Amino acid sequence: MARCIICNLKVEEDSRYNSVYKGKTYYFHTKEEKEEFDRNPQKYASK
Ligand SMILES: [Zn+2]
Repeated sequence: MARCIICNLKVEEDSRYNSVYKGKTYYFHTKEEKEEFDRNPQKYASK
């Protein structure tokens, strides 16, 4: 189980909303969360 770093809740790793940043795959619940991450990945990935 992965964690959605936008809302901080668990998310399935087969989520179709995912994004690879610096070699790590991040998973999201919604298209909006993925877009928010893609706009500013450093803000979230640094946590
Ligand atoms: Zn989420």
